[in-house]
Amino acid sequence: MTKYIVVTGGVLSSLGKGIVTASIANLLSRSGYSVTAIKIDPYINIDAGTMNPYAHGEVFVTDDGAETDLDIGHYERFLGKSLSRANNITTGQIYLSVIEKERRGDYLGECVQVIPHITNEIKARIREVSKSQGADIAVIEVGGTVGDIEGLPFIEAMRQLRLEEGFNNVLYIHVALVPYLKSVGEIKTKPLQHSVQELRRIGVQPDIIIARGEKPLSDEARRKISLFTNVQPDMIFSDPDVDNIYRVPLILHSQGLTRKISERLGLPYREPDLSSWEVFVDKLDNASRRVKIYMVGKYTKVRDSYISIVEAVKHASAEYMAKPEITWVEATDIENGKIDPEGLLDRDAGYIVLPGFGRRGAEGKIKMLRLLRENNMVTLGICFGLQLMAVEVARNLAGLERASSTEIDPHTPHPVVDLLEDQKKITKLGGTMRLGLTRSRLVKGTLVHSLYGSIEVYERHRHRYEVNPKYIDKLENVGFIVSGYSDEGFPDFMEMKGYRFFIGTQAHPEYRSRPLSPSPLFLGLIRSIVGL
Ligand code: GLN
Repeated sequence: MTKYIVVTGGVLSSLGKGIVTASIANLLSRSGYSVTAIKIDPYINIDAGTMNPYAHGEVFVTDDGAETDLDIGHYERFLGKSLSRANNITTGQIYLSVIEKERRGDYLGECVQVIPHITNEIKARIREVSKSQGADIAVIEVGGTVGDIEGLPFIEAMRQLRLEEGFNNVLYIHVALVPYLKSVGEIKTKPLQHSVQELRRIGVQPDIIIARGEKPLSDEARRKISLFTNVQPDMIFSDPDVDNIYRVPLILHSQGLTRKISERLGLPYREPDLSSWEVFVDKLDNASRRVKIYMVGKYTKVRDSYISIVEAVKHASAEYMAKPEITWVEATDIENGKIDPEGLLDRDAGYIVLPGFGRRGAEGKIKMLRLLRENNMVTLGICFGLQLMAVEVARNLAGLERASSTEIDPHTPHPVVDLLEDQKKITKLGGTMRLGLTRSRLVKGTLVHSLYGSIEVYERHRHRYEVNPKYIDKLENVGFIVSGYSDEGFPDFMEMKGYRFFIGTQAHPEYRSRPLSPSPLFLGLIRSIVGL
């Protein structure tokens, strides 16, 4: 039987509710329970795949090829295990399946309504995922904030869940902002009071409150929150701003959260084993070295656009007792001459040319890549980054004039990067890329092979284009060799032979990087920078 923990948010979005959810999952899984985490996104899209990262943050990809909300990435990193397509539920998915059932005649004779049909579908999905993943505990994060019209059916479904599963089997945690007002030097609890009132109005009395804020919660603020929300003071937890998100489980645990959750759910308390996690967190916080990383991409103004890559850099850096210092480079600024890329060259730094789509900014990245290659800089190209490495080498080393990717120039005389054959027939853009975990075979003697230490490797993918196999000979002849092939014979990894570290991958190794098991490619990148 599964116990359910429902996490709702109040006052503001982007509060770090995903990190709180991931932290709770982390603590319970380290207590020896089998835990899964589910994200509910109340938008009508079926998945995050068709959304702009500028507005919505990174699209995360699971082993089974789902394009999900970035919180699934946090859950995987904090849980240390892979989740599936079923762990991200959207309004679009729920309505699609209810409408399909209606058309099939499953509800013959009935008027199909939000209550009970939509809410039943929501509960059924949650139970299904929890059961199929053998979860003792499922932590469910309801996206958005209490009071959003689109979130209502989900919160209503969560209210019904306790009614059906029993009081001790469902726990409600409300995460809300408690702002610190500088002008009066005071913590203000009123917005949180209002969001709890709204939650109660729709039938949910939170058991636990987690107060997010710049500063730790004062005793007085805690008393006030308790009085107005009907939650005991010892069930109110403080989650102040921290630089290191991986510290959040430790902060919450030190206040007794794990014990309180166990008590409320009627589970025997087991002390979580946090030793290896603490070692990792301390390494990051106490790192004596600095590693400088330049991230070249689009949408670099929004931190969340490449969140898994930033986290993968942290995981690998911690391993070398180093703290990353990231400088974002906007490729469109290189393209239009606002930035001089020569000024960015630094032998003691590393460069990541980021994934991307479309023409804008691509020539800026190519310009940067040329300088990085010519100066033997430590460089990792991810997905689009690899594709543009191939284009740059084709143009400037192999002498193939106007070589390009057909994504950038459909009429190029040298389509060094081209659409995958089976992609040419595709007309629908949602969920149709090459997605998810696939196998690559590495070439012995390459740098990539030495980094992974095995011939068969598995990484996740998200792309439509590939380095064109017809050009492999020409690229290899000038030193840009294939270090790993997909089962279909496409280059999944390439590298400049004999260089310090000039590697491109068609895969997204960042998605599988975890705090306690960093990605081999990222480890190699950081090691090449720190020179060990
Ligand atoms: N736009 C490229 C493609 O579709 C690269 C995608 C990516 O970087 N994720 O193949």
